[in-house]
Amino acid sequence: MTASDCDIIIIGSGFGGSVCALRTAQAGLRTVVLERGQRMTPEAYAALADGKAPVFHAEREPGVLELHRLSGLLALTASAVGGGSNIYTAVTIRPPCDIFEDHWPPGINAETMTSYYDRVERMIAPTPIPATPPRMAALDAVAARMNASAVRLPLSMDWPDDPAALCRRPEVGGVYQELATWLQGGYAASKRTLAQTYLSQAESAGADVCALHDVVAITPASGGYRVDYRMSRNDEWHDGSVLAPRVILAAGTLNTTRLLLHCRDMSKTFPEIGPTLGQRFFTNGDFGGLLVGANLDLPPDAGPPVTGWIDLWDRERIYLMETGLVPFDFGSFSGLLNPVRWFGGLRLGPAKRSTWSFGTMGDDTNPGTLTLGRSGRLAHRRDRINGKAFHARTMAVLRGLATVTGGKMIVPPAAVAKRLPITVHPLGGAVMAESPDTGVADTFGEVFGYPGLYVADGSLIPAPTGVPPSMTIAAVAERIADHLVGGPPPE
Ligand SMILES: Cc1cc2nc3c(=O)[nH]c(=O)nc-3n(C[C@H](O)[C@H](O)[C@H](O)COP(=O)(O)OP(=O)(O)OC[C@H]3O[C@@H](n4cnc5c(N)ncnc54)[C@H](O)[C@@H]3O)c2cc1C
Repeated sequence: MTASDCDIIIIGSGFGGSVCALRTAQAGLRTVVLERGQRMTPEAYAALADGKAPVFHAEREPGVLELHRLSGLLALTASAVGGGSNIYTAVTIRPPCDIFEDHWPPGINAETMTSYYDRVERMIAPTPIPATPPRMAALDAVAARMNASAVRLPLSMDWPDDPAALCRRPEVGGVYQELATWLQGGYAASKRTLAQTYLSQAESAGADVCALHDVVAITPASGGYRVDYRMSRNDEWHDGSVLAPRVILAAGTLNTTRLLLHCRDMSKTFPEIGPTLGQRFFTNGDFGGLLVGANLDLPPDAGPPVTGWIDLWDRERIYLMETGLVPFDFGSFSGLLNPVRWFGGLRLGPAKRSTWSFGTMGDDTNPGTLTLGRSGRLAHRRDRINGKAFHARTMAVLRGLATVTGGKMIVPPAAVAKRLPITVHPLGGAVMAESPDTGVADTFGEVFGYPGLYVADGSLIPAPTGVPPSMTIAAVAERIADHLVGGPPPE
């Protein structure tokens, strides 16, 4: 790629990046998207299922999952064209209105965001599961025993013509096969990723989406910014750069924050970015456990990874999401490898006792801070340990679930959970605010002190969303894109 050959460069093709790519291309701007990961074609999934492709991203090895092992945090994100939509469980949902009441800039609230959420909903068109597999029926019953209600979640899925196919018992494969099936939406449904919605339309509108382009540096240059990358072609890596008056950082919460910290503190290309960079990082209250030995006769089904949750928002500000039956028989692990041995001599009953996984998430407002070590690695620390109350409520919810089902809940030990929170919904770190005293970017994502440099991904979100955040990230990106191109897109 040669210099000055585009109007806008977008780094990353997840929810924020894809939305911006479509809207800028529709407005006639020459748009280049630089994405570090590969395209998840049928061949790429087949290689994954056969165990012939790397699962985890490493430098110069494009795996679809990125495991961030930070001091003080474990996080899982995606690395592929379409970002997190390749690995998410497809829940596309608006947050409760009251999340906008704290720490969001004035003027951004449930009402002013409605038209942007509507737009995302029209594009992604999520729908609830059209059948009732046994685990969904069980969730209804369990919710009633907890004096709450179960909700069928809106999912970005294409459902089979015959919904009964979602309830049939699948033929379980090996670990890689299961992973590839899970990523694609299960045995009977098919997940719609951004590659089928925003990104395909962006490419039709003229956006140039460049896979296997790993951005390593951003530098102010000639009235804009130069973006340096390493790209893979024919299994060889080459260096390149591209210049544009405007750049949008949409590399995901952790990678955007890391890139900005690197530019401010190591390469010193953005020395004016203030001390709020890295602050107000949230795990969105992510936690979870395995329900074992419950009095539930649950056969595995061919449905999607997630079907619904128990809504405890009004009571606990927590959602308890069922995340599928674990297709492994713990009884077959022997000796020390058997998790059952670690957790109090628990005995699993006959095979009909299922292992059911649950994820919790919610309004954990306890912020953390991301910093960059000398080696260039991110580290995380909780600002203050006042998250105890939230964690205690989460544990009470999980114990309550075990009690009403007559089972046991396997969770990470408290000491580990406190020191090493785990998240799949990282948010914040380069948050939007009214002034540089309180955030990194203005309310349209433009970085204070660097005109033309924008942030449009999870790192911009200034508070937990409680619900899975992709729809909010996309809606905020729609708002940023309107500002960039001077108005809403054509209907
Ligand atoms: C297992 C799992 C399940 C989930 N389920 C849900 C769900 O059901 N619903 C929901 O709302 N959310 C879910 N999430 C979270 C959701 O995936 C994220 O919140 C969302 O993808 C974040 O969007 P983003 O735009 O911030 O960045 P991402 O979607 O993470 O995209 C960032 C992109 O930037 C690329 N990139 C990073 N660094 C560079 C670089 N240096 N150069 C070029 N490209 C780069 C990455 O490869 C990636 O493709 C889930 C996450 C996980 C891990």
